[in-house]
Amino acid sequence: MHEMSLAGGILRIVEDAAARERFGRVRCLALEAGVLAGVEVRALRFALEAIAPGTVLEGATIEIDEPPGSAWCMACSETVPIASRVDPCPRCGRHQLMPNGGTELKVRELIVHDA
Ligand SMILES: [Zn+2]
Repeated sequence: MHEMSLAGGILRIVEDAAARERFGRVRCLALEAGVLAGVEVRALRFALEAIAPGTVLEGATIEIDEPPGSAWCMACSETVPIASRVDPCPRCGRHQLMPNGGTELKVRELIVHDA
């Protein structure tokens, strides 16, 4: 499952931060998974909960925001909202789109327990 390796990558990011900033446990992990990022949010949450026990993420609240997708339409010369990478431009119906929003999976915020 794709989301399992994503969850592993996120855990590594958090563990690196824990080593650098010397915290032991995470209270809340806030992620952003853009609707164009190709991430199944429920599967990602499940994968994170599955790997959390015994790690810095054990017991952490996981929040996942899903920023909407947008793309630059070359025909309209403007940014338009899209719900998927295969959608046409909602204004002109063409497919000359370059996604420019909602394309990322990233850690937005990490709230930790005081040492
Ligand atoms: Zn257009």
